[in-house]
Amino acid sequence: MEQALREDIVRHCRLLHQRGYLAANDGNVSSRLDGNRVLVTPSGVHKGFLEPGDLIVVDLKGNKLSGTREPTGEIALHLRALAQRPDATAVVHAHPPLAIAMSLTKKKLDGILPEVTLSLGRLQVVPYARPLTDDLAKAVAAALEHSDAVILERHGTVAVGRTIAEAYGQTERIEHASQVLWSAYALAAPRPVDEAEQRALLRMYESSRLKR
Ligand SMILES: [Zn+2]
Repeated sequence: MEQALREDIVRHCRLLHQRGYLAANDGNVSSRLDGNRVLVTPSGVHKGFLEPGDLIVVDLKGNKLSGTREPTGEIALHLRALAQRPDATAVVHAHPPLAIAMSLTKKKLDGILPEVTLSLGRLQVVPYARPLTDDLAKAVAAALEHSDAVILERHGTVAVGRTIAEAYGQTERIEHASQVLWSAYALAAPRPVDEAEQRALLRMYESSRLKR
């Protein structure tokens, strides 16, 4: 079980790198092992070359329980996200370029693409907070109350899921949405979904989340 989870994290870290969703040592991934332990990526390792044995086990306060390296510097972000979302098992933090670029523009992103709303809730940009701080971790956790994946202003994305694959998939979805919105804004300001329709879509997202 733990070995399979380690391999799953490594496979998705390589995919994040291959797809250009992070560069070099950037980004980090975590998954619950049980009620008291979390498996996380180490700091200072290139995600394209990560190995299952590089991963670290920490407790819910971030204390290292096993592993030869040190846990990611964004450990607080992962632990606060998991605490905020007991329905989630995995957290993926990446630096997808189009999502970051859109976060620099202050353009409206939410309420334009219906399937994005249905899949991940509100498409939010969490206002800038300094990387590696508890301020950032708290802001992300609060935003995850309304979404399964959020964009961090000037920084990247955070996605949660019931599996690593699901959290990875939300990362892919948010970058794809950013690409569509980027293309639309290059032509003209995209028209939002009707407000009543957006509210209905959000209710559908929330009820599907409660059923998990
Ligand atoms: Zn980051």
